[in-house]
Amino acid sequence: MIGPPGAGKGTQAKELAGLLELAHVSTGDLFRDNIRAGSALGKRVEEILASGALVPDAVTIELVRERLRAQDCVRGAILDGFPRTLPQAEALGVLLAEAGDKINLAPYIKVSDQVLVERLTGRRTDRRTGKIYHVKYNPPPAGADLEQRPDDAEHTVRRRIAEYYANTAPLLEYFRAAGVLQEFDGELAIGDVLKLIVTAARERLAA
Ligand code: ADP
Ligand code: AMP
Repeated sequence: MIGPPGAGKGTQAKELAGLLELAHVSTGDLFRDNIRAGSALGKRVEEILASGALVPDAVTIELVRERLRAQDCVRGAILDGFPRTLPQAEALGVLLAEAGDKINLAPYIKVSDQVLVERLTGRRTDRRTGKIYHVKYNPPPAGADLEQRPDDAEHTVRRRIAEYYANTAPLLEYFRAAGVLQEFDGELAIGDVLKLIVTAARERLAA
């Protein structure tokens, strides 16, 4: 999944993983799990996430390399938030080629900058289930155990959007050249975006 922060990658990836029976691999979630657990990796990346900067490529690539070895990734995985730089994309290419595997589809969820800030500052996640909500666009059910990500504060959101344009947006051309990029209107309703991506993913997986 590729797109700016707040485009809906996590929202879509979780649903897609369930529907297509693929693993959901979110580097952001993995980093946050490590921070919560107080692991060495968590300690190393905590301040970086809080600032909105990117974690160094070597650390991120190693994390994904390990994660993709897990049993639940045997049928494939939805990568959410990775790759985010050209070196990460190249490392992923090598990793997959070594395993005789490939990227089937790079869904680009396109959303305008004006929409992103409101989406991120209104985002809430359920501590227990990890589900993603929005105070206005996807209201949580009563009784949800909600938390707000520290990096969803407005000034950090702006830094993350800038990081996206500087480091990640160039990957759109990379995936287009590889013939796997497909663009989706991320400003449609969540269910409508999902339908379009599921259809495209099923076609690519069958091809
Ligand atoms: P990303 O993983 O790309 O950063 P998320 O999936 O966490 O984005 O979504 C960011 C916020 O926007 C969340 O609060 C989510 O509920 C909301 N959201 C996601 N998709 C849509 C959509 N199509 N329309 C309105 N709000 C959305
Ligand atoms: P996300 O949950 O995708 O919004 O990511 C949250 C934060 O985790 C980012 O702002 C980065 O600090 C870090 N992060 C997640 N994925 C990557 C990645 N592929 N490369 C570098 N940093 C990442």
